[in-house]
Amino acid sequence: MMGGRVGAPHHQCETIPLRMSPTFGRTSTLLEIRGLAKRFGGVIAVDGLDLSVEAGEVRGLIGPNGSGKTTTINLVSALYRPDAGEIRLAGERIERLHPHEIAGRGVARTFQISKLFGNMTVLENVLVPALAELDRGARRAPGQIRERARRLLDLVLLDRLRDAPAKELSGGQSMLLQIARGLMLQPIRLFLMDEPFAGVHPTIKDTIMETILNANRDEGVTFLIVSHEMATLRRLASRVSVMHEGRLIAEGSFEAVANQPAVLEAYLGG
Ligand code: ADP
Ligand code: MG
Repeated sequence: MMGGRVGAPHHQCETIPLRMSPTFGRTSTLLEIRGLAKRFGGVIAVDGLDLSVEAGEVRGLIGPNGSGKTTTINLVSALYRPDAGEIRLAGERIERLHPHEIAGRGVARTFQISKLFGNMTVLENVLVPALAELDRGARRAPGQIRERARRLLDLVLLDRLRDAPAKELSGGQSMLLQIARGLMLQPIRLFLMDEPFAGVHPTIKDTIMETILNANRDEGVTFLIVSHEMATLRRLASRVSVMHEGRLIAEGSFEAVANQPAVLEAYLGG
């Protein structure tokens, strides 16, 4: 639906299986976090986190409130500087880069509380990443950028609202717009999402899910999705990573992690 013409080259997508099998040899690590730490005064939000995400994966990131999930997303997207540790994107160290440099390397994100430009139109909001791209020395023609924007707005069912000010959108529609805007990054490799389904109407939830699956399948976009909505996350991610007190305490299929005592204890506060 989104086509392979923009974004990751299509041939690349075909070599990346959706469900990683251990016997399928050629997987590569896209995101690699080692010993990551972040403290706020006396609070240690992230405490020696190790986390790896394979290229082409849709990974869930779960954990009780306050376990450091949002801080992790903020560290990877360079909103925060880590106190310790390394973050690698396709092998390159990125933990000292600035947010625009992270975006320039193909890392998009959504915020729980949307950071859209309320007085700009829906279409203008989607075009913002392309403006930043022009700043970096554009590779896409303006017509191509506009076509991509319209196609993405169509995909998230906002094209008919393209001339409306973004502030008129519902919470769920704002999330869809954030997602369309992220997918405008060229290239788009890794999409970080912080609670994209929270407080969103069920029909919009379905649109968000379809958009994620489309981008993953058609363009090979890798996702790291923080969510409390297990039923929804389960339909998207074959594997989840579980955080507790700033660390990774479990990882694997939903079934595998749900049976681990450390996970039960973390959620039950035992
Ligand atoms: P989660 O997203 O898993 O609920 P967070 O990463 O938001 O967890 O928070 C982890 C811990 O860090 C919490 O104790 C939270 O209060 C604290 N924290 C997060 N961000 C900040 C901040 N900007 N200033 C101070 N404390 C923070
Ligand atoms: Mg959070």
